[in-house]
Amino acid sequence: MAVNKKGKPVPTNSNASKDGYFGVVKTFKHKLHVCCRDAEQFRKGDIVFLWVYVDAKGLKQGFMEKERGSVPIPTQQWLSIIDEAASLGANWLVLSLRDALNKCAGVYEICQWAQRVHGMNVGLHLKGCTCPEKDEVALLRKLDRKKTKLLMHCPPGKMPVAKEIDGITVWIANPQPDGEKPKCQGAARMIFVNEKGILYTCGLVEGKEDYRIGHVFDECLKTVLTNPKTPRKVCDDLHKVSSGCDGCPSLVTTFLPRMRRMP
Ligand code: SF4
Repeated sequence: MAVNKKGKPVPTNSNASKDGYFGVVKTFKHKLHVCCRDAEQFRKGDIVFLWVYVDAKGLKQGFMEKERGSVPIPTQQWLSIIDEAASLGANWLVLSLRDALNKCAGVYEICQWAQRVHGMNVGLHLKGCTCPEKDEVALLRKLDRKKTKLLMHCPPGKMPVAKEIDGITVWIANPQPDGEKPKCQGAARMIFVNEKGILYTCGLVEGKEDYRIGHVFDECLKTVLTNPKTPRKVCDDLHKVSSGCDGCPSLVTTFLPRMRRMP
């Protein structure tokens, strides 16, 4: 896989997948080195969450070969994004799945990488799902259960179907009613990436050009996140809970003490 001088993978049509396992490891090592150097300048606790949108089209083997931002990111490249986010302090990874879990090949590999290599907690946000299928639960059970949470949307005022499914803790993905001012920890402690690798301030403003802050392969995440021109918070007019906040780790973790007291 080709990388630029900052260690970022770049699109290529040179059959990068032929590099195989050792090529991938070499690239990760190089990127980790670059990221670790940058991370030294980052204050501990600045970044806590990595929140990514993924879909079935993207979670495949191989590497992104087309123009960045136009196609979803394949599995291997998500691993290097996780490496970089972890080097900046992220200890939470939330994957918001646009498709059913059993259609998203690659999710398991990504979660396992985050848990085993970086000791991260993983939240799987099953968009549009109120109760996972048996085969989906079986997949989840292969992960480190202590470090795995299921985030599920609940109709307003309702509790999730269970607090736990086969040993996997269930959290409400939308703990605050729509329309209120989000009681989140803010977007500044989070890295938000959509399935095509486009970075936005947070999920609430995903797709809004004014809040697009770059692409994960443009330059080091730290450079993007510390750019004074990068919007790291949402303007008051837009700052209201909506479906874009569903699954947001900055919001969900704020409500955790209340969720733990759920009957
Ligand atoms: S998505 Fe919503 S809850 Fe999360 S940081 Fe943005 S405004 Fe706050």
